[in-house]
Amino acid sequence: MKNFVYYNPTKLVFGRNQLDQLPQLIPDDVHRVLLVYGGGSIKKNGIYENVLEKLKERSLNVFELSGVEPNPRISTVRKGADICKKEHIDFLLAVGGGSVIDCTKTIAAAAKYEGDPWDLVTKQAKPEDALPLGTVLTLAATGSEMNAGAVITNWETNEKYGWGSPLLFPQFSILDPVHTFTVPKDQTVYGIVDMMSHIFEQYFHQPTHSPVQDRMCEGVLKTIISTAPKLLENLESYEHRETIMYAGTMALNGMLQMGYRGDWATHNIEHAVSAVYDIPHAGGLAILFPNWMKYHVKQDAQRFKQMAVRVFGVDPEGKSDEEAALQGIDRLREFWSALGAPSRLSDYDIDDTKLDLMVERAMANGPFGNFHKLEKDDVESILRMSL
Ligand code: NAP
Ligand code: FE
Repeated sequence: MKNFVYYNPTKLVFGRNQLDQLPQLIPDDVHRVLLVYGGGSIKKNGIYENVLEKLKERSLNVFELSGVEPNPRISTVRKGADICKKEHIDFLLAVGGGSVIDCTKTIAAAAKYEGDPWDLVTKQAKPEDALPLGTVLTLAATGSEMNAGAVITNWETNEKYGWGSPLLFPQFSILDPVHTFTVPKDQTVYGIVDMMSHIFEQYFHQPTHSPVQDRMCEGVLKTIISTAPKLLENLESYEHRETIMYAGTMALNGMLQMGYRGDWATHNIEHAVSAVYDIPHAGGLAILFPNWMKYHVKQDAQRFKQMAVRVFGVDPEGKSDEEAALQGIDRLREFWSALGAPSRLSDYDIDDTKLDLMVERAMANGPFGNFHKLEKDDVESILRMSL
C-alpha cells in the first residue's frame, strides 16, 4: 500500500423513514435553502412533498431549482449559482440521483466563486469556499452521496469532466431504500453497472499489496451479482433495494481505495463518449469496461484471473492465467447483458463518424489511467472494439 490519509465527513443516515431526521440535520444557523431536483420523478413518487413537509418543521425560506438533466449541464450550474448569489442562499439540498447531487455540489462551489463555474470543472481555478450541502438520494448508482466528486457536461463544447474538492462532501446524506422503489428497471440496471464499474476501476490498480481491499472489492461485487437478478424480479423488495443502495455508497466513498489510486481510464473514455452522444453514463460503461479489460489482460493476467476465479467462479484448472482471465471477462459481459445492459456502441446508433472527436475529448488532459497509461492509439483501439 501507499501511505494514505482517509477523510470522509459525510454523515450517512440510512434506512426506512430516515427522512424524519431532515429538520435536525440542517444546521441551526441556516435560513435560506435551495432545493435542487431533476425532471420531476420526485413529484410523481411523493418524495418532493415529503421533503417540503419536513422542511416546514423549521422556519426556513425555501427556493427551488428544478430540471437538472441526467448528465447535468454547466448551464444549469450557472443558473443555480446565480440564484444562490441573488437570494443569499446558505444551504443546498439535493434530492435525486447522481446528476442532481453532482450539479448541487458544483453549484455549492460556484456560489462562492466570482468567475465562470466551468473554470472549476476544468480545474483552471481551485475553489476556496463552498456552500454546505446535504442530499436525499433517490437512485443507487454513483456514490456521489458520500464522496467529494462531481461530473459536469458542457454541451456547447461537447466536454464532460469529473472534478472534486474536499469542500464538496455532503454534510449528510439520507438514504431510504424505499425512495428507490420507483426507479425503473433500466435505471436500476444502469445503477448496478455503474457501482460495479467503480469497484473495477479501483480493483485494477498498479501492483501493490492490497489483500484487504481486494477481498472487500470482491465481497461487494459478489453481493451485487447475487442480488441484482432478484431485485429486477421485484423492484419493490426493501431487502434488495437496501443491499444495492448500501453497495453503491460503499463502492465509491473511498473505503475500497485506501492505499492506492485505482485506474479510472474507462470512466474517462465514457465521459468522452457521453459528452459527444448524450447516452446514460452506465450504458457507456457497460459497453466499454469488458473491452478495457480484454485490452489489458496481457498487462497483468494474474490480476484478471484473480477476479475471474474469485468473483465470477471461473475454474482455473487446466487453464493459463490468460484463458481464465478472458473467461471471467466473458462472464461479466454475459451477466450485464442478461440484466439488459447494452454491449456495443451501435446499440445507441453510434458508429465511427465521430470517433476522432471522442478520442480527442478523452485525450484532452493527456495520457490517462493509473493501471496502464492510455495513449491516443489505445483509446482509439478500445473505442473501435466497442463499436
Ligand atoms: P441520474 O442521471 O441522476 O438519474 C437518471 C434518471 O433516473 C433521471 O431521469 C431521474 O429522473 C431518474 N430517477 C432518479 N431517481 C428516481 C426515482 N426514485 N424514481 C424514478 N426515477 C428516478 O442517474 P445517476 O446514475 O445517479 O447519475 C448519473 C450521473 O452521475 C452521470 O452524469 C455520471 O457521469 C455521474 N457520476 C458521478 C459520480 C460521482 O462520484 N460524483 C460517479 C459516477 C457517475 P428525474 O430527473 O426526474 O429525477
Ligand atoms: Fe460512474
